[in-house]
Amino acid sequence: MKKHQDTLQRFVFENTPVRGNIVNLTQTFQQAFKHQELPAGLRRALGELMAASALLSATLKMNGALVLQIQSKGLLKLLVVECTTDLNGAIKIRATAKWSGEISDDQTIFDLIDHGQFMITLDPKDGGQAYQGIVSLEGDSISAVLENYMVRSEQIDTRIWLCCDGESAAGLLIQKLPETMNQVTQAQDLDTWNRVSHLASTVTNNELLHLPTETLLTRLFNEEDVRLFEASPTAFFCSCTRESVSNMLRMLGDEELTSIIEERGNIEVNCDFCNTLYTFDKVDAAQLMVTDTVIITSPEIH
Ligand SMILES: [Zn+2]
Repeated sequence: MKKHQDTLQRFVFENTPVRGNIVNLTQTFQQAFKHQELPAGLRRALGELMAASALLSATLKMNGALVLQIQSKGLLKLLVVECTTDLNGAIKIRATAKWSGEISDDQTIFDLIDHGQFMITLDPKDGGQAYQGIVSLEGDSISAVLENYMVRSEQIDTRIWLCCDGESAAGLLIQKLPETMNQVTQAQDLDTWNRVSHLASTVTNNELLHLPTETLLTRLFNEEDVRLFEASPTAFFCSCTRESVSNMLRMLGDEELTSIIEERGNIEVNCDFCNTLYTFDKVDAAQLMVTDTVIITSPEIH
C-alpha cells in the first residue's frame, strides 16, 4: 500500500508559547533499512530515533545535521541516526546499528545496553558552532530519555511520543517556550501547557502511525486554536561519497593501506548506511597515499 509522502509538520497553539510538530516516516524508514538486516528491537529503536531526530531538528530551526548516537559495551554496540535539514527545509535521514551475538526479537535496546552513552550532536552546515551534549540514559523508553534531556539540559518543557511498528515510524512533540515575565500570562501559559500535554498524551500508536497530520491534530486538540504550517518533505538520503570514503581510508595510514592491498588485492568499503560498495584497486590506493604530504611514523599496530 502506497501512502502519502513522508512529512514533518510544525504547528502552534495560537497566542500561547506552546508549539509542536509531527513526523511520519514510511518510505524513509523502508528505504533506510532496505539493505540492512536488523534484529526487530534495534529496527524499532532506530525508527523511534529517526522520528525523534526529525522532531528535535525542527524545533532547533537550523540548517545542518543532528546526530543521535548510542554507544554501549553490551550486545548493542552502536545506534546512529543522522538527520540533515537543507536550506529549503527538506529533511534527510539515515540510520544504522552495530551489535554482537544473538538478539531475540522481543529484546529492547534497554535490555542490550551496558555502560551506554547517548550523545546528541548538532553540526550546523552554515558555519555556526558545533555542539555536543550527553543525554543521560535514564528512563524506560527513548521518548522518556529525550524528554528528561530537554527539560534538564535545555530547560525547555518538552513532551515526546514516538512509535515504530517495524514498517514505519512516527512521532509527536510539544514544547512550551520559556516563560515571559508577565505573571498573568505565565499562569495562563502553564494552564495551556498542562491542558495540551494532557490532550496529547491520549494519542495512540495507531493514530500516530496511520492518521494524516490534520486529522490527528483535530482529533487530539479539537477545542484548541491550532495553526498548522506547511509540511516539510522527509526522505532517506545517505551522504556518503567516494571522496568521503577516500578521506576515511587516508586516516588509516599508508602502512595499513599497503598491507590490505598486499593481502586482498584491493580495498573494499561498504557504507553501513546505504550499502554502497566502494572499491579501490592498487592504482587508486597509490593515489590515496600520494596526497599525504606529512609522513608520520606510527607505532606498529600488529
Ligand atoms: Zn552511504
